[in-house]
Amino acid sequence: AVMVARRVRSRRRWGRVVGVLKEFEEACSTSVGRLRQVVDAMAVEMHAGLASEGGSKLKMLLTFVDNLPNGSEEGSYYALDLGGTNFRVLRVQLGGRRSAILGHDMERQPIPQHLMTGTSEELFDFIVSSLKQFVEAKGNDSDLSPGKRRELGFTFSFPVKQTSISSGILIKWTKGFAIADLVGRDFSECLQQAMSKRGLDMRVAALINDTVGTLALGHYHDEDTVAAVIIGTGTNACYWERTDAIIKCQGLLTNSGGMVINMEWGNFWSSHLPKTSYDSDLDKDSPNPNDQGFEKMISGMYLGDIVRRVILRMSQESDIFGPVSSKLSVPFILSTPLVAAMHEDDTPDLSEVARIMKDVLEITDVSLKALKLVVKVCDIVTRRAARLAAAGIVGILKKIGRDGSGGITSGRIKGGSHCKMRRTVVAIEGSLYTSYSMFREYLNEALTEILGEEIFRHVILKVTEDGSGMGAALVAASHSARNIQ
Ligand code: BGC
Ligand code: MG
Repeated sequence: AVMVARRVRSRRRWGRVVGVLKEFEEACSTSVGRLRQVVDAMAVEMHAGLASEGGSKLKMLLTFVDNLPNGSEEGSYYALDLGGTNFRVLRVQLGGRRSAILGHDMERQPIPQHLMTGTSEELFDFIVSSLKQFVEAKGNDSDLSPGKRRELGFTFSFPVKQTSISSGILIKWTKGFAIADLVGRDFSECLQQAMSKRGLDMRVAALINDTVGTLALGHYHDEDTVAAVIIGTGTNACYWERTDAIIKCQGLLTNSGGMVINMEWGNFWSSHLPKTSYDSDLDKDSPNPNDQGFEKMISGMYLGDIVRRVILRMSQESDIFGPVSSKLSVPFILSTPLVAAMHEDDTPDLSEVARIMKDVLEITDVSLKALKLVVKVCDIVTRRAARLAAAGIVGILKKIGRDGSGGITSGRIKGGSHCKMRRTVVAIEGSLYTSYSMFREYLNEALTEILGEEIFRHVILKVTEDGSGMGAALVAASHSARNIQ
């Protein structure tokens, strides 16, 4: 009788856990039909964001980047890349011929956690002292422009309202940064002041978003590159837009007839997005509630925490993970690289999953059956993220008429007698796509599903490593007086 009672109880507790998982999986559903709705919503919001200031949650920010590097750039340029996790300093030597990056030096370090929420003085101290050390170690007199200054491209991976190619105002922080006195300030002016205070004579020649850097480097190597996407700690995209489509800036004139638009797609929202109660809770607990909704479903900063929340719930509903571990209530304890490691554990006994459960979450002696459920949670969260990112990309293609929906003839080859879909390259960067192969596979699979094999053959996703940093040097070069004369 005891045995029977135990078996019944155990079946009940599995039933509960499986119920939690089923419900979660259904709420995360990304059928191709739903993805198409997201594609359409993205394209609609892009139009709205271009039509008027504040017309959409998509800010569709002007970048003032009205020509993309084409290979003619020459000289030495410095770049700073302040992202969500890492800080990089670079010096890039350009040879004046396509793909002739003669060489580059780079130093990279993680951004100390306390600086993300500290004071502006501390942050600029860190940036400028790293830069100064780098220039002293790697600099060269040949770097000096005719004005006898070194020129710098600054990649700043946050939403900025640009006032020119080299200046702009921080709209808000994302990705866990919170330094209140910098919101609303001109970031390159602050940097310029911090540099002169420490006797570093450099000119900020370009202030750009990391996606713009990625597009710049992508275009430098391949002129068919029309958009760039980053899926790392945060997520965002930018693309090349015709000036006459940028309705909110009537009369905007550029020599090239176009400009790069920084979409800030992390803030995209649509009722078609498969949002769960875990997403709502994560949002409520975040430093920026009601903000960056798309980003919170897709980017590396958040995926691990969604997984943690689901495991916590499963643990509360049953004892398949033993008594509820207090670690399960620690926000962000489960990072996305750990999720990737669990998801891609191919050992028969899921030893990596067991190790992470034990070392990170202090949950021991988990049955293989329960470990499999953990892997399933990782799979659901990652698959949804990758498929939504894919829908975002197709949204851009649709907006610029490269999704094949206008018929295969929509992008006509100039002067071509027979029409065909033009080769379309999207530069892509960020650790989710580059270092998490399941994520990458799911994203590519969803692109094929939405676009169809025929169209997908013309769309190329190209990993553009270090684009955000190298691209800043390229944009500094292509917009520098030295190269425009
Ligand atoms: C920021 C974007 C940035 C993206 C990727 C987002 O949180 O708002 O400006 O491009 O992260 O780094
Ligand atoms: Mg980055």
